[in-house]
Amino acid sequence: MVSYRCKHCRLEIGEIPFSSIEETIRELQSADKTGSERFINVTDRGTLEVHCICEQCERSMNAYPDYYTIEKWLQ
Ligand SMILES: [Zn+2]
Repeated sequence: MVSYRCKHCRLEIGEIPFSSIEETIRELQSADKTGSERFINVTDRGTLEVHCICEQCERSMNAYPDYYTIEKWLQ
C-alpha cells in the first residue's frame, strides 16, 4: 500500500493500492518538477509513505503563513 500522510499533523489522508504505485511515482515525479514539496518515504513495513499536506493544514497555512515559516526553521 501507499499511504498519504500529512507532514504537519501526521494525519493519514488516504491509501492507494500497490498496483497503481508506478503511476503514483510518475505523478509525484512530474509534480516535483513543478516545485512541489511532496516526497516519498519507505517505512520499515515496506509501505510507501507519501508526505503531503492535508486540507486542514493547507487552510491554516494560508491563514497563518508566518507560523509555518517558523516551524520550518525549527526543524
Ligand atoms: Zn495536516
